[in-house]
Amino acid sequence: MDFDDNPEEAEYRAHVRALLEQHTGELLHGGAGESLDPATHEAEFRRTQRVLAEAGLIGIPWPREHGGQGGTLVQQAIAGQEFSRARIPTLINHIGLGMCGPTVIAHGSDDQKERYLARLLRADDVWCQLFSEPASGSDLAALRTTAVRDGDDWVVNGQKVWTTLAQVADYGILLTRTDPDRPKHAGLTMFVVDMHAPGVTVRPLRQMAGGSGFNEVFFDDVRIPDAERLGEPGEGWRVALTTLMNERVAIGGGGSDIGVPVETLAAHARDRLPALGPDRQVLARQAVGRAVVASLATRYTGYRRFTVLSQGGLPGPEASAGKLAGTAAGRLVADAGVRLLGDDAVYGAAADGDDTWQGMQAYMPGLAIAGGTDQVLRNILGERVLGLPPEPRADKSGPFSGGTR
Ligand SMILES: Cc1cc2nc3c(=O)[nH]c(=O)nc-3n(C[C@H](O)[C@H](O)[C@H](O)COP(=O)(O)OP(=O)(O)OC[C@H]3O[C@@H](n4cnc5c(N)ncnc54)[C@H](O)[C@@H]3O)c2cc1C
Repeated sequence: MDFDDNPEEAEYRAHVRALLEQHTGELLHGGAGESLDPATHEAEFRRTQRVLAEAGLIGIPWPREHGGQGGTLVQQAIAGQEFSRARIPTLINHIGLGMCGPTVIAHGSDDQKERYLARLLRADDVWCQLFSEPASGSDLAALRTTAVRDGDDWVVNGQKVWTTLAQVADYGILLTRTDPDRPKHAGLTMFVVDMHAPGVTVRPLRQMAGGSGFNEVFFDDVRIPDAERLGEPGEGWRVALTTLMNERVAIGGGGSDIGVPVETLAAHARDRLPALGPDRQVLARQAVGRAVVASLATRYTGYRRFTVLSQGGLPGPEASAGKLAGTAAGRLVADAGVRLLGDDAVYGAAADGDDTWQGMQAYMPGLAIAGGTDQVLRNILGERVLGLPPEPRADKSGPFSGGTR
């Protein structure tokens, strides 16, 4: 593992840092948690991404013909590290950049690429991912939202849920069932949907951490032109796999410590442990120790992946485990902060920006669900990395409408 930048990487890092300093007054700065809500600071979030895009810091590995920089994944990772260092919050179009854009690049028509990609990079349009439904999350291919062909259009009816950022989104990638008589993975089709089209209703959901990061989305006779299809009819699962592979890399592949403030925790521990009574001190000391170890292990695994990328390779099993380990470490850090600070975790002693430790503790469980739950990731690791026998799946061959769903 190589902890140092090579000369080219160091030069690129200095370049990014200089650009961020030059534009600092135009950029949002804040915590990694929920205190800065894109829905209530939408204009500033959009401006931040536009300024970064104009500085050449968005879409770094995307091809130049699609408005990207034609750069490398290492440069993107360096820019991401420098954004965190400058405390720039998660970009408003992170779903578009990480998942929807790469799906349009892989499966969209030339016309779709022309119309959508440059605007997505500048956050002129914000995008969302409309996959999960009330009865299909982990088992995504069981979804029931239908699209029925009608002339040059498709007519969509159904409901999605947990749709991050739908309340500010202009477009979404929408996975639908177009042929219920085929096996469940074979009857799906993907579309780009205009979130402002008649018949689309978005209702924000309130989370226990206080924010409304995600939404319910209802489709009532929404018409989508056939030209907005991504891939062939019935090929939606293949298109969705492109999105999901990009999602795993975007969320967990880095094996980062997901922005959790472990240094702040250690500083609190130095200040506060001596003043705790002996019984609380022992438990808090153990919680802090466990959290710091897990967090640093995740961070160093991320460095290992970074080294592989830097040497021109592709990440292996450590990337699959990144999200699982990063989320577990995040929960340990937040729990240790609450244990250490007691009441102060609720009312004061910010963990990160304006986020209290208690707010961070309430935010963390969602990360163990988003983008593949812990249990589902363990299944994937067991089957694809360790080569264990797969789960029995009786529902793969019969028609979806035939009750094998
Ligand atoms: C913060 C956040 C943001 C999200 N953003 C989006 C978004 O933008 N777009 C979108 O489409 N979706 C989004 N989701 C939804 C997310 O993808 C789903 O919540 C997730 O896939 C789990 O699906 P589910 O909630 O239906 O739970 P279920 O699939 O019903 O799972 C319930 C429980 O059963 C377990 N389980 C399920 N299957 C298995 C199995 N085979 N083996 C062992 N255990 C199993 C799960 O681990 C879980 O504990 C988001 C979720 C969160 C929390």
